[in-house]
Amino acid sequence: MDDRYDVVIIGAGIGGLAAAGVLSKEGRKVLVLDREDRPGGRALSIEGSEVSERGSDWYRDVLGRHYCYLADSRPDIESVVSERLLDGYTLDLGYHGVGCAGLGYFGRLTEYLGIEVEVNPCDTGLYYAGEFYREPTLGKGKLDDRIYEACKRTGIKYWSFITSAFGKTPQELAELEQVSLYDYCKDLGVDDLIWQSYRCLGTLFTTINNPHDISAGEIIRFATNIMMPIIASGKPLHVGGFAVGGIGNWSAAVAAEVERLGGDIELGVEVKRVVTAGGEVEGVEMVMPTGETARVAAHAVVSTVPIQETFELVPAEDFPAEFVSRVRSLYGYGSLAPYFGLNELPIPEEQAELLVKTPVVVEAGDDYDYDVYMCWNVQSAIDPSCAPPGKHLVTAYLPLTEEESHDRRKVAKVVEAVPEFLERAYPGFSECVDWALYPMCWKLEGVAKSISQAGTLKPEVEAPGLAGLYFAGDTARGFGVAMDCACSSGINCAAAILGRTLGIE
Ligand SMILES: Cc1cc2nc3c(=O)[nH]c(=O)nc-3n(C[C@H](O)[C@H](O)[C@H](O)COP(=O)(O)OP(=O)(O)OC[C@H]3O[C@@H](n4cnc5c(N)ncnc54)[C@H](O)[C@@H]3O)c2cc1C
Repeated sequence: MDDRYDVVIIGAGIGGLAAAGVLSKEGRKVLVLDREDRPGGRALSIEGSEVSERGSDWYRDVLGRHYCYLADSRPDIESVVSERLLDGYTLDLGYHGVGCAGLGYFGRLTEYLGIEVEVNPCDTGLYYAGEFYREPTLGKGKLDDRIYEACKRTGIKYWSFITSAFGKTPQELAELEQVSLYDYCKDLGVDDLIWQSYRCLGTLFTTINNPHDISAGEIIRFATNIMMPIIASGKPLHVGGFAVGGIGNWSAAVAAEVERLGGDIELGVEVKRVVTAGGEVEGVEMVMPTGETARVAAHAVVSTVPIQETFELVPAEDFPAEFVSRVRSLYGYGSLAPYFGLNELPIPEEQAELLVKTPVVVEAGDDYDYDVYMCWNVQSAIDPSCAPPGKHLVTAYLPLTEEESHDRRKVAKVVEAVPEFLERAYPGFSECVDWALYPMCWKLEGVAKSISQAGTLKPEVEAPGLAGLYFAGDTARGFGVAMDCACSSGINCAAAILGRTLGIE
């Protein structure tokens, strides 16, 4: 590895692979380094049998390296392993719904690379005050009668939140970034039911519980840049989807294309520092799988480690002080991301194929900054390959702030509330559960899409003060829901390195 590369990319997560894909396609010699044994980063898939064979300590370590810990398990994780309860399941790291069923930035990148990754779509529903409401496929389908009546009564077009995005200028979009979802909807004049539905969509999009902190502009920009073109193209626009065979297949497909285009991907390599001289990057220093230290030279280095951790690789003194303090002030969002392995499905068929959201599983109070929301899917109804025949996999996520995520007592309260809620919603649920795992992630999205951090308020992909250093990943300048945002940032980063736009930003 002593040839000089055009670009060395630290991290084979979605941000790193997106940048590597574009740069390789454009003829740049790229090296991607990752300390893990597979590409994907936080968009990780694990075969359940791998947990059975490698054991609970291995599983806990994998979670730990991806900013997660196992908050609880029923039965205990040792029994889950020894009884091989996870065999036949594919577990994405937590819940890994793909925005716009893969037609967002994911779709732009794969189309650009000329590869296909299968994503099965799903639409959404709302569960509010004990009632279930179906939301139609965006732009098509019939609204639930009760939502329709509420819209008629208040003179609101249900999708006006999104269609109002049409024709907004970049300046208007940037101004809306600092408007909260709450204030935006108050101005629209929505009633309680429509508000709960919008609020849940906003939380789904940003993983922020508090609607006073959700950036309306971030959602509106995504509607303008991504959703409108899909509707205009005549393709069905689904809110979400699941990568067939697990989200890891997306990264595996992009990684294979990078290698086919001549890029190198080295796994099990930990980068220790970015080598710099005279205000320019020269390459990276890393620890190889053998334990030896090595260096590789490059004209440019892309860091996809969460940007708050940059100063572990490059001394803070190499950057302008203002940048350092801004980066240190950025906050992310965590999430409890439980799985349930079921032997029977107590969830009605009409709901089983939907991504269902509810505004409150645990009420706000002293412990939580806002009501704790949950969304859930029978993932195996959308992608049957993720559960063994005759079994079902339910995945869910409940956003928590970073501070709440680290507080074991607060997390335990949410862990207790989830099965109780599901039992109330679907009587008999508890009896159908073979096993349940509760990974708690404190960095689901590295920079929360809040009114002080979203969109153009995120750090730019080109590092200030150090020529040749770039950022990508969900903490750098990119748009859309988490994985899509990481992909978008990778595209933006590649465009900055190439010095021109690509038409897929
Ligand atoms: C439990 C959970 C559930 C989620 N659910 C969803 C969801 O439903 N929908 C959605 O869109 N997003 C979801 N996300 C978020 C999504 O996974 C992330 O936003 C996205 O994968 C981030 O990609 P990235 O490339 O920015 O970072 P990462 O995936 O973190 O990639 C960074 C890579 O850098 C590597 N690395 C770090 N330091 C070094 C080093 N020193 N040397 C070498 N390699 C290094 C890491 O191993 C990693 O592979 C979820 C995340 C979690 C954890």
